[in-house]
Amino acid sequence: MARACTVCIHREREAIDAALIRGEKNRRVAAHYNLVESSVRRHLPHIQRDLQAAQAVVESTHRRLRTLDTVVDECERDLEAVLAAHRETVADRDSGELVIKAVAQRAKLAALQFGTKRTTTLVDPRQEWEALSPAERRERLVEMKHRLLELEQETVGGQH
Ligand SMILES: [Zn+2]
Repeated sequence: MARACTVCIHREREAIDAALIRGEKNRRVAAHYNLVESSVRRHLPHIQRDLQAAQAVVESTHRRLRTLDTVVDECERDLEAVLAAHRETVADRDSGELVIKAVAQRAKLAALQFGTKRTTTLVDPRQEWEALSPAERRERLVEMKHRLLELEQETVGGQH
């Protein structure tokens, strides 16, 4: 079973690592921290290994941050789309209300006209007929007969 590295479990490991990373000689560092030089030399790959692990953590954190950024961007786009749809709906409702108002205004005008200037086209012909007196009905029938004769003559005349 591998013996635990005396530098790894050293209470001042951070300072030792910092000195070695700065490029201080193994011998000098060993002397300063009451260590054997071979222990310091054996410890060097551990610094490399731990730095790589730390680097991996930093990289994965960056990746996660980028993912979060993407999610935030997507949420912002969705929000913008929702707001745009809302604005469109409001605009549609407003223009719909304008159309309803215009139609209501025209209906009101038509009602006013109908009240003052009654036109025969707006009256049910059957009701109109029933409202006529027998004499008026006879008169209307004669008018229709004349009109039919006129039409007949026009048609016959057109054939010549
Ligand atoms: Zn070590």
